[in-house]
Amino acid sequence: MTEEKKNVPDLFASMVFNDAVMRSMLPREVYKELLKTINDGKRLDEKIADVVASAMKEWALKKGATHFTHWFQPMTGITAEKHDSFITAQRDGSIIMDFSGKELVKGEPDASSFPSGGLRATFEARGYTAWDPTSFAFIKDNTLCIPTAFCSYTGQILDKKTPLLRSMDAINTQAKRILALFEKYPRRVNVTVGAEQEYFLIDKEDYKRRPDLILTGRTLIGAAAPKGQEKEDHYFGSIRPRVKAFMEDFDRELWKLGIKAKTEHNEVAPCQHEMAPIFDKVNIATDSNQLTMEIIKKVADRHGFACLLHEKPFSGVNGSGKHNNWSLETSDGENLLDPGITPQENALFLLVLTAVIKAVDDYQDLLRLSVASLGNDFRLGGNEAPPAIVSVFVGSELEEVINAIIEERRAEIKNGVKLDIGAASLPQLPRDNSDRNRTSPFAFTGNKFEFRMLGSSFNIGCTNTIINTAVADTFSLFASELENAGDFKQALHTLIKRELKAHKRIIFNGNGYSREWEEEAEKRGLTNYRTTPEALVHYHDEKNVELFKRQKVYTREEIISREEILLDEYRKQVHIEASMLLEMLTKQIIPSSVRYSDDIAKGLINKKALSIKASGEEKICRDVTELVNRLSLDCDALKNAAVAMPDDARSAAFYAKDIILPLMQKCRDSSDELEMIVGKDYWPIPTYTDILFYV
Ligand code: ADP
Ligand code: MG
Repeated sequence: MTEEKKNVPDLFASMVFNDAVMRSMLPREVYKELLKTINDGKRLDEKIADVVASAMKEWALKKGATHFTHWFQPMTGITAEKHDSFITAQRDGSIIMDFSGKELVKGEPDASSFPSGGLRATFEARGYTAWDPTSFAFIKDNTLCIPTAFCSYTGQILDKKTPLLRSMDAINTQAKRILALFEKYPRRVNVTVGAEQEYFLIDKEDYKRRPDLILTGRTLIGAAAPKGQEKEDHYFGSIRPRVKAFMEDFDRELWKLGIKAKTEHNEVAPCQHEMAPIFDKVNIATDSNQLTMEIIKKVADRHGFACLLHEKPFSGVNGSGKHNNWSLETSDGENLLDPGITPQENALFLLVLTAVIKAVDDYQDLLRLSVASLGNDFRLGGNEAPPAIVSVFVGSELEEVINAIIEERRAEIKNGVKLDIGAASLPQLPRDNSDRNRTSPFAFTGNKFEFRMLGSSFNIGCTNTIINTAVADTFSLFASELENAGDFKQALHTLIKRELKAHKRIIFNGNGYSREWEEEAEKRGLTNYRTTPEALVHYHDEKNVELFKRQKVYTREEIISREEILLDEYRKQVHIEASMLLEMLTKQIIPSSVRYSDDIAKGLINKKALSIKASGEEKICRDVTELVNRLSLDCDALKNAAVAMPDDARSAAFYAKDIILPLMQKCRDSSDELEMIVGKDYWPIPTYTDILFYV
């Protein structure tokens, strides 16, 4: 049966070398050994690797694959792959299709062209990729993709996957210490994540005529359309048939790769949509989200669309984010953020909740910088996404419980009890999520936390590495205190009360978009890094370096290199945008506007000869000419400023933010004013109305 005709259960994961395939294709002993590697991180023996590789190849060839690649996530934010075919030459001139254990386990891409932030000199170009057997191999574009981690030869990490795996180990170790206090001994504690993905779909023909969208992902100029999202008629609105056909195709492509695409709907802005998968283990969820971002573009193209993943493709229109739903689950299937019904379960829940609250408060700067990018700076705090201030929403009932614990009193809710933790049970907490707060950056939603500050184009690895590490460290502190306590229940009560009191400032249930909250947050001493450079420079703050070192997630050098890479990426992006803007203005906008005013001027001469008064045309001609004069001066200023960008990444990033971006905005203002008066036939690029309201 062709892939296209299969029903969903048959189609699902048909392109994944998953557990079921491994079990059916591998000899029993080999499968058992591999499981030890997958579950417990045991090193894979070379002989075993050979058998696995051979089975993988057989399976891949049957599915039509001709090539294999190590698939990894370098610091560029996108995924990287270098394809090798399976062919191996024989002495007699023929070829066979071959794939060895060595090729499966380790690859050696030339690392010199990937960002390393000074970790690896170009003469030390070698890097290697190592199979991450906890993520399944899959087939994409006739290529067997092997998920891998990417390191330099000296062992320093060069990707976004390795730290995530390290942070998963850290939280597993520390969470098990917490669970042991409650006499629970699961084999493993996993982080579960569901990443909701927002995106724009626009007509490909419009896209092709917008060099700014092609090169920078966003429109650098463009006046507002007469209609925006004010009528709120797009959110959950009925889906255009063309988009519906795209979504069906998109879902099937994801299902084939074992990605559990579940929900598809329209979002707030015109042309904006969302896809949410069912949650998974965090490393799988990360791989899946990276694949989702790649596949969505390909499928969009097949349907005559361009998919925009940029955080703010259109000024004045809601941008796109990504919601990272995060929780902890034991290998026995227990969700540690589920309040539970027995007093003991409640006590464990409250301890985990307290740890998350403390971790978010202590490392709010890290969470903020994990979502920092040029694109996201246009969203955060813009009345459409949470502000640049990190706070936690727990809902009014849970906040009352927290207050009651701190104040040692009875909780003022239905069945409210005074909580001696471990003795009394929590009053039933509402589970229906009715008490939702869309404006909170870090919201408790019944049995998980939803971090809503991520940009739509982000790799979720970095954010989750930070949440995992911060929570692991907090667990470790709590465990050390409680393991040594004489009276466990008393110690638990004291700890929870003390920590909730100390970190209550991070809890905020009100409107996060309001001006008052910014003032209030400042009074509470919460950080508010409005832009990417301001946030990023705190990566290597001593407390952060110590955290990552303690939990063995990053070394100091690795953090410094990451900060450098991200600052450099920011300044490069601003530079590209400035150059693109200048090119569009000087080659397209100014010439078109001049042509328009010239044509009017010629007409004016004719009319004058006939003594016809043409005051309206004269005014347009003058206005256009004046705006072109202004715009041309703005362009000169921007050009001169761009040339003078400092060399080192940090100064350049601040220079880009403080000098270049405001000059770009000035150019844009003049250009957008021109757009409002220059004739439609003369305007050289599709407008917001054309793009956002295609039929
Ligand atoms: P929303 O209204 O925000 O879309 P949903 O209940 O649909 O809320 O959940 C959104 C995401 O949260 C989905 O990806 C879902 O799979 C994920 N999710 C649900 N439970 C968990 C959990 N325990 N851990 C991680 N993610 C979860
Ligand atoms: Mg959500």
